[in-house]
Amino acid sequence: MYLLEVDDYRILIDCGLDFDLDEKGRRLLYEEQESVFPFEASMINIVLLTHAHIDHSGHIPNLFKEGFEGRVVCTEPTLALSELLLHDVARINRRRVDSMSQPGKKKKKKKKELPKDIYLEKDVADAMNSFVPVAFGRAYRVSEHVKVTYYPAGHLLGAAHIYLEITENGQKKTLCFSGDIGRMNYPLVVDPGPVPQADYVICESTYGNRTHVDTKSPDDALMDVIQRTCVDKPGRLIIPAFSVGRTQALLYVLNRLYVNRKLPPIKVFSDSPLAHASMRVYQRFYRMLNRAAREFQEDNGELFDFENLTFVAGTAESQNLSNYKEPSIIISASGMIQGGRVEHHVAANIQNPYATILLIGYASEGTLGWRLLNGLEHINLKGEAVKVLANVEKIDVFSGHGDLTDLENFIRQHDADKLKKIFLVHGEPESMEFFRSVLNGHHYQHVEIPERGSSYEL
Ligand SMILES: [Zn+2]
Repeated sequence: MYLLEVDDYRILIDCGLDFDLDEKGRRLLYEEQESVFPFEASMINIVLLTHAHIDHSGHIPNLFKEGFEGRVVCTEPTLALSELLLHDVARINRRRVDSMSQPGKKKKKKKKELPKDIYLEKDVADAMNSFVPVAFGRAYRVSEHVKVTYYPAGHLLGAAHIYLEITENGQKKTLCFSGDIGRMNYPLVVDPGPVPQADYVICESTYGNRTHVDTKSPDDALMDVIQRTCVDKPGRLIIPAFSVGRTQALLYVLNRLYVNRKLPPIKVFSDSPLAHASMRVYQRFYRMLNRAAREFQEDNGELFDFENLTFVAGTAESQNLSNYKEPSIIISASGMIQGGRVEHHVAANIQNPYATILLIGYASEGTLGWRLLNGLEHINLKGEAVKVLANVEKIDVFSGHGDLTDLENFIRQHDADKLKKIFLVHGEPESMEFFRSVLNGHHYQHVEIPERGSSYEL
């Protein structure tokens, strides 16, 4: 979340929810403070949203609740995906609220006021009324002094780099916010696109100290795991995956394998209603996907659905998957095994030596995904220490963030002599420090790693 002030016009770039975890590894949704924001929400004039992921969009309904009256500007697919994701948070919040007001207690006590950062379905619906879609590659004037252009960033359907041209007292300044930077040749989404030279660049640095080590294509990497875990040793393959972005990439690759007659005749279960809804958005905006995906859609009429695939709808149906004894693949959220239906699948199979849990993305410390990745022999399930007998594997090809090379490529579009400053954001400290040293090596001398809450005059 970045607040940009041009005279007295205030622009917020992204408005994300933090994924802080408590000691039990639960996501913290409650903050006991006066306001969710370190500024007055009603003073903001406009929000520019790079993409739909909750760590970029998740606080938007709270901004409206606290008095924001402006527009939220984003691409059309970002609008559609944000609506799904924000409603998903509202549903989680609703369950929290219901569990806070246990029956019996609430009659005696006065109704407890909700924590500030809790929003519900109606708040999301209200916020969505103020979303305005824009096209890629077109400059829009948002105020007398400010023009904004969205450029494709890869990463997720609709994701953008945001480029701002600010003219003040006859002087022009340009800023480029990277948003999340995708990687080259990722299934479905386009490669991160070029942006014009900027004076200031605000760049993400998730993988600023990492180079992806894929030696195989997504198809081959996935097929290799399926062969070993569902065919050679006939078992169950459980893939925890984020519902929006990651699951679509997986299902599309599986569909491609199916169409190319490489996929053995095993059942694939996609167990996430949010993933299913997002798939329809991907399907609807397929013209904005990469060329291979567009051609696949035109040849096959379907990006995701194939004969062996079952979409699991209800929770009862989800629980019943344990009774399906044939080799199968279960794809379910969340990706870090932190909440969501996949928790149940992992619990049901953790002591099954014929089961494999395949992690395909980043898992933050404290999550069950992180503990499995770090080879813990016992994990805690419902208060009991359970020995891990299932196999745990990891592949890198489905990670949606660009690596060090992709980040370098993004910066190197900007001439070092013309670039006044680079701000590194959205990364662990070690990752940002390493990335800075690499950039310094490329003669980018003015690289800043800002503290949270600090301000700069440009
Ligand atoms: Zn993202």
